[in-house]
Amino acid sequence: MNSSANNPDMPSVPEDLSYQAIATVLNSLDALVYVADMETHELIFFNDYGSNYWGNPGGRKCWQVLQKDQDGPCSFCTNPQLVDEHGQPTGPVVWEFQNTANQRWYQCRDQAIRWIDGRLVRMEIATDITERKEMEQALEIARDRAEKLAETDELTGLKNRRSFFSLSTQAIHQAIRAGDPIAVIMFDLDHFKQVNDQWGHAAGDTVLRGMAAAARRTVRDSDILARLGGEEFAVLLPATDLPKARYLAQRLQETFSSQLFPVTGGAIRCTASFGIAAGTGPGMVLDHLLRQADGALFRAKEAGRNQVASRY
Ligand code: GH3
Ligand code: MG
Ligand code: MG
Repeated sequence: MNSSANNPDMPSVPEDLSYQAIATVLNSLDALVYVADMETHELIFFNDYGSNYWGNPGGRKCWQVLQKDQDGPCSFCTNPQLVDEHGQPTGPVVWEFQNTANQRWYQCRDQAIRWIDGRLVRMEIATDITERKEMEQALEIARDRAEKLAETDELTGLKNRRSFFSLSTQAIHQAIRAGDPIAVIMFDLDHFKQVNDQWGHAAGDTVLRGMAAAARRTVRDSDILARLGGEEFAVLLPATDLPKARYLAQRLQETFSSQLFPVTGGAIRCTASFGIAAGTGPGMVLDHLLRQADGALFRAKEAGRNQVASRY
């Protein structure tokens, strides 16, 4: 039996055998099949799968039965794509859509066809793809998380060495194109071995996390702050010259030296030494900047630690 024959509100259709045969097949499908008038949107055929999910169409329009809170044809209706400028059918349009009434995902196959009474109608076959969609979304979340983990330092949550090198290389290319200067600050915690020796490795970790958090609060969002390894960090500063980098390094140095980290049995004060370098123009390379900053950091250590040094 077909739905329109069961329902006195549906437009009447010829009760011939071939129609009955087609309706029987369409009613057996595990997919929504409906036919609607292209102009009025009135449902002419609605298979049993549709009635089970969206209720009896009762002579209503597709947007009234299938969607929620619509007071007119849907903005996403594919009807305009189903016919060309001469009003001729263009073939099937296949798309994916989250139904507004039941929130499930469907792959919709829409097509303008000639109905048994000769008029052009819209036919849609919609297959439920919710499970596949949910799996795709879960995979996407897992992939995002894995990507984030791969570029994050586990202990401090800062960017890791690998991520620092790839992001900084991009930033330098961009700076060269824009003609901007770029600066890099390397810093290394002072006498950190003693911190571990005196307070234990876990307390050392607390200091590393605290220093990283303080550094994150001090730099700009556009700066690339990373833990390169151990108790050594780097910040790449886009659009920054040497004096500005020195100013930021001094702020970091003051922040660190004024901070106390409470741990079991007391509180730890830990300073850091800073080396800075800056460059501009097409010859700039990350390796070179880092070597200069590392040389300056070495001099800051030699000069007594807890201070900032720049390249000669
Ligand atoms: P300097 O002022 O010359 O930098 O002296 P330092 O003691 O900081 O330098 P050194 O390189 O001799 O020691 C670094 C220490 O950092 C040794 C190592 O055990 C410790 N360290 C490296 N990674 C970690 C970590 O993830 N957690 C902890 N707690 N300690 C770490
Ligand atoms: Mg150190
Ligand atoms: Mg070190």
